[in-house]
Amino acid sequence: MAALKHRRTALERVEKFISEVYFTDCNLRGRLFGDRCPAASLSCFQTPRRIPYDEAVRQEFAPVKVGDSFGPTWETCWFKVELSIPPAWAGREVHFVWESDGEGMVWRDAQPVQGLTKEGEKTSYILTSSLKETEPHSVTLYVELACNGLFGAGKGSMIAPPDPDRRFTLSKAELVVFNRDVYELLVDLEILLDMAQLLGEENQRSFQALYTANQMVNVCDVGDPSTFPAARGLAAAIFSQRNGESQHTIHAVGHCHIDSAWLWPYEETIRKCARSWVTVVRLMEHNPELTFACSQAQQFEWVRSWYPGLYARIQDFVAKGRFIPVGGTWVEMDGNLPSGESMVRQFLQGQRFFQEQFGQICSEFWLPDTFGYSAQLPQLMRGCGIRRFLTQKLSWNLVNTFPHHTFFWEGIDGSRVLTHFPPGDSYGMHGRVEEVLKTVKNNKDKGRVNHSAFLFGFGDGGGGPTQKMLDRMKRMSDTDGLPRVQISTPDRLFSVLEKESSQLCTWVGELFLELHNGTYTTQAQIKKGNRECERILHDVEVLSTLALARSGTFQYPTSELQRLWRLLLLNQFHDVLPGSCIQLVVEDALRYYAEIRGAGARLQEEAVQSLCGDLLQPGVGSTQSTLVLNTLPWERTEVISRTGPAGTETLALVTVPSMGYAVVKEPLQPPQPVTVRKQEDGSVTMENGVIAVCLDTMGRLTSLHLVGSQRESVPEGCYANQFALFDDVPLYWDAWDVMDYHLETRKPVTTLLKPLEISLAGGLRGSASFSLQIGKSSTLTQEIILDATCPYLRFLTQVEWKEAHKFLKVEFPLLVRSTNATYEIQFGHLQRPTHGNTSWDWARFEVWAHKWVDLSEHGFGVALLNDCKYGASAHGNVLSLSLLRAPKSPDATADMGHHQFTYAVMPHWGSFQDAGVIQCAYNLNFPLHPVPASSAQCPEAWSSFSVSSPAVVLETVKQAEDSPGAVVVRLYEAHGSTVEAWLQTSLPVQEATLCDLLERPVAGGCLRLEQRGVRLSFTPFRVLSLLLVLRR
Ligand SMILES: [Zn+2]
Repeated sequence: MAALKHRRTALERVEKFISEVYFTDCNLRGRLFGDRCPAASLSCFQTPRRIPYDEAVRQEFAPVKVGDSFGPTWETCWFKVELSIPPAWAGREVHFVWESDGEGMVWRDAQPVQGLTKEGEKTSYILTSSLKETEPHSVTLYVELACNGLFGAGKGSMIAPPDPDRRFTLSKAELVVFNRDVYELLVDLEILLDMAQLLGEENQRSFQALYTANQMVNVCDVGDPSTFPAARGLAAAIFSQRNGESQHTIHAVGHCHIDSAWLWPYEETIRKCARSWVTVVRLMEHNPELTFACSQAQQFEWVRSWYPGLYARIQDFVAKGRFIPVGGTWVEMDGNLPSGESMVRQFLQGQRFFQEQFGQICSEFWLPDTFGYSAQLPQLMRGCGIRRFLTQKLSWNLVNTFPHHTFFWEGIDGSRVLTHFPPGDSYGMHGRVEEVLKTVKNNKDKGRVNHSAFLFGFGDGGGGPTQKMLDRMKRMSDTDGLPRVQISTPDRLFSVLEKESSQLCTWVGELFLELHNGTYTTQAQIKKGNRECERILHDVEVLSTLALARSGTFQYPTSELQRLWRLLLLNQFHDVLPGSCIQLVVEDALRYYAEIRGAGARLQEEAVQSLCGDLLQPGVGSTQSTLVLNTLPWERTEVISRTGPAGTETLALVTVPSMGYAVVKEPLQPPQPVTVRKQEDGSVTMENGVIAVCLDTMGRLTSLHLVGSQRESVPEGCYANQFALFDDVPLYWDAWDVMDYHLETRKPVTTLLKPLEISLAGGLRGSASFSLQIGKSSTLTQEIILDATCPYLRFLTQVEWKEAHKFLKVEFPLLVRSTNATYEIQFGHLQRPTHGNTSWDWARFEVWAHKWVDLSEHGFGVALLNDCKYGASAHGNVLSLSLLRAPKSPDATADMGHHQFTYAVMPHWGSFQDAGVIQCAYNLNFPLHPVPASSAQCPEAWSSFSVSSPAVVLETVKQAEDSPGAVVVRLYEAHGSTVEAWLQTSLPVQEATLCDLLERPVAGGCLRLEQRGVRLSFTPFRVLSLLLVLRR
């Protein structure tokens, strides 16, 4: 008899039928599991170390029981579990159910077989799908339990610092009979119920789904499985009613975002990869359609060296095109702060790894979770064999909604890549009806393209896809009312998007994330380590390459440099370099930087020894002189500090040729010495013939101008080099976020501890020092330094930082009017507004830059240079550099303690390009290297490379990856101009060819070697790489 149905009661009736909470005594859910049987025996061995299986199983195991708890945090418990399956369960599906806090890995026969994590909805290990009499009924398993959750062990909230004393309880370890037919019905009903609820009353499919589900409940007798097929038949009938041709297609790809370190240390990530990927492999064995996109070469490398058995199975699935390496980079790095060369190396190390291991490079860049994307990335991707890009992070924008999900992204040089943001705004979908509907509804490019990505699987802390996600999506593959859901691959998706791309829009410039702008500043020691180590590896490569080219015997440190680069690249991971990680990770990161510094110093010494060894041997009775090396591609005249014969430090003005060296006996006389004078009011003036400054007793600039001009840089009544302290309390993401309202809490720092005093009287160098009290308990000491001939004033700064939720900046109000400021980025620069006209302008109240920022009007401007800072802002005529933050989560000790950094101010005529701001910022970051030498022999100066145009920077000189007798050099156009330049070299080059960023020769890229070198043509911000084959 047909009954009138009340929508709400019908919905709730079905809900209760599958509820995990209500009526489980009589509903379908309560029948999911049949008989149970406890483990025959359970014992445990606990260790603070992460040890291999072989070592673990040799240890003493002590009996434990369900209900016991283990810990504390970061310990590892190895459980030995002996199971005995009751013979009466013949023909049944038998699961080993493990429920505990912490992340588990099941080992069987000495191999990892599955990850078990309650938070990742994985608590069952299937022992058999149908127990046969011939199967062994006694099984021994080991469970390796990490005492940390999927998201670490935050005390009270996810991002709070880890609770060191957390206990981890084992709540279930037993055998159960699993009723697969009940499970299938539950999934049917869940999907129908979601369709009924989410499609809404205006959609007839909603009612069709509801009435079908209601009828299934009528048909089902939970105590009589013979009634189930009829109910399943009802569901199958509705799921098989197909869509029309125009329906949107969702490309579902399994994924598992694993942060390489975040709320847990690097070492735990190795196990997270293994737990997640072994589970994927197992799912693949049972689900022939499953595909899985997997990024980060470093994580593959970890699994390769720690889990070779698992890695071999992964390699099989890679070969089948199902386990799909994506991204092309070493790690999913931060998208803002790594230098241009670092980004190239992310791809170089990544793509070469994928090529070596799997015989293929990645065709899409994959960075779903990074805090903004440099406008130089499109060119770098294109140079690394990549035309496609996937992310979704801009869905986190706090202020503006990004207007596209599928579009062309155009970088500062004009390179374009096809870009897709999965419209569901997540990389961790669960295959729910709600998510597939959102994917269609939210898509901003409806009508332009009809395909979207859908990445499913638990992520961030790992976990990955589950069987249930797959089973849900199977039911939605082509069901009227829902988008088509196909298991697909990134390549299939991008291929159809490319075909449909004629109507797509273009976004030009950076993909700025309007959130997490504190990550340009948080964990200043990590930022400093990154900048310094980028410089160290640059210098080691330049000097080693020169040594290689000049000496037949020098061994280029290929493998050591690869090791050091990989450490640096690893630390550029998107929760490490941004500073959004726990203290354990910070300690690891700083240790890696120390490793690079130490090994880098050794390598540099070896290269210098080989390059100019004969100059370094002090001859008998010779007066000591100094060898000065310059790793930058232009001649430099600078004041250096050198060690004299008696071990005393003395200053000397030297000129060193481009990428080469000079032996200095008699230092140069400056055209004009630095003068430093104290005025009656306590202020100090300094002048060097280039710039002149006046400093008040608090070290603030009241005047800054170019000598011979009255053009003042500091407005009347204003102070430049003014420190300011802001309250810095974000809404939630402490280490990540600086909110716009912090600007309303500005307090100038004006408590003087030690007034300005002259510390160096002038001549080659003048300086003055002072100290300030910051806030309640922090102090700052600064030495303001002016060198002979130098066009900028340096601020060598020491801070004892003991604040909580405060933000320290230094401000330079300038007598310059411009609606835009210019910021250095990777291999170039871009402009951002100095105003907040629109919400898009306003949202960039705190931005990032690399070595310099400039505010210019026609004919004049002022630049701020720095040696390890990344946060900056320009509001009206005030340029600010962000110095230190004091967040307390996830690292309660973040940034506490001593800091040293240098920034500089540089007024200039003309444009910053013509004034040499770019070169000065390099000079500040790449000091000349003085080495004690013998009395000079010939030649006294030597240059390896030089470039004819000041617009072109020769950034990188290294040995070619694939050819030890060849050198790769990388240059870029830095002014934003179209220009021809000659690259000259004194190295014995016999062949020059253009190559891409992966060092593959470009077709037709052979260059003519001429008297003046090779001629190169640049368009704005073009990056060019050359392969130079050396004569032997
Ligand atoms: Zn992440």
